[in-house]
Amino acid sequence: MARVAIVTGGTRGIGKAVSLALHERGHTVVANYAGNEEKALAFTAETGIPAYRWDVGDHEATQESCARIAAEIGPIDIVINNAGITRDGVLQRMSFDDWNDVMRINLGGCFNTAKATFAGMRERGWGRIVNIGSINGQAGQYGQVNYAAAKSGIHGFTKALAQEGAKYGVTVNAIAPGYIDTDMVAAVPAPVLEKIVAKIPVGRLGSAYEIARGCAFLCSENAAFVTGSTLSINGGQHMY
Ligand code: NDP
Repeated sequence: MARVAIVTGGTRGIGKAVSLALHERGHTVVANYAGNEEKALAFTAETGIPAYRWDVGDHEATQESCARIAAEIGPIDIVINNAGITRDGVLQRMSFDDWNDVMRINLGGCFNTAKATFAGMRERGWGRIVNIGSINGQAGQYGQVNYAAAKSGIHGFTKALAQEGAKYGVTVNAIAPGYIDTDMVAAVPAPVLEKIVAKIPVGRLGSAYEIARGCAFLCSENAAFVTGSTLSINGGQHMY
């Protein structure tokens, strides 16, 4: 059955691949973005998928935007919390703003969209929320206390909210990607990236489409019994 889906940070990188995967499966997709207007316009021109601009870390803006999407397009049954940023640095050099921005956007964004959509999903007896965590939230990463804490928080958030949705047909799951070939990873210095790839058993970076296909499964009818789980898609880099 076709549903209305929102994908935060859905106009480029992993989010773009997720938007396309859900669109290809017949859903009515709305992609959100933060401010990269050029990429968002190109995305809509290429795919026909509308893009709505707001900051997922802004609670009020998220409530208003989700209400607007529900009014203009239809009740939101699928939410992919994908928007994320990094502000890396060792603790001594990490500012409070670097900490706060990463927590506010990566983890706060999940709370904000859930607040705007979860009650409706429960009332309608069907919903899918997929939160994009990270291998670095599972294993930790040097220079990323903010990002690792936010992503680890996403995994806890997922398990707690899954318990609230289970009786109402609303599943809540997470995906923990390993290193995926997107703009975010392009920002990692080449020598550091080489060392990272050397630690990936399959010997390469992942593609955004490999995350998108996992995400599409978690949003499908076939995944009705999967909730509170974390799907690790990381080329074998972290197994547990
Ligand atoms: P990109 O940096 O390529 O894209 C990030 C997307 O998030 C953009 O669409 C951006 O919008 C949007 N975004 C950023 N901040 C906000 C905000 N405040 N409000 C709304 N949208 C926002 O990221 P990736 O595709 O690489 O990553 C996607 C997700 O996957 C992130 O959560 C990331 O942490 C996670 N992840 C990525 C990995 C990787 O290897 N790439 C590994 C593990 C996890 P705009 O275009 O307007 O800037």
